[in-house]
Amino acid sequence: MSENREEKKNPRFCRRCLLEEADPEAYQRDLVSVLARMDRETRTPPAEYERRLDACRACGRLNAGTCEACGCYVELRAAVRRQKCPYRKW
Ligand code: SF4
Repeated sequence: MSENREEKKNPRFCRRCLLEEADPEAYQRDLVSVLARMDRETRTPPAEYERRLDACRACGRLNAGTCEACGCYVELRAAVRRQKCPYRKW
């Protein structure tokens, strides 16, 4: 199969694109899917998860779901029990 036909069959986005720009709906679906599959030992308990997200919502470093301090997607970082805010807000 030629390279052009292969790219049409399996489209890729530019490596310089943000995930949100490439396909925001797919990103949201993937995020929900990853969180749903995370095992209980790894996952932050629900009340603590919400507390962490509240801190991120009130933080000036939150930018479109990412933390400007560490570059993480805050919903993923906050969902992992052992993770910490780089500024010790949670
Ligand atoms: S992880 Fe910490 S520094 Fe980053 S957005 Fe959340 S509260 Fe702010």
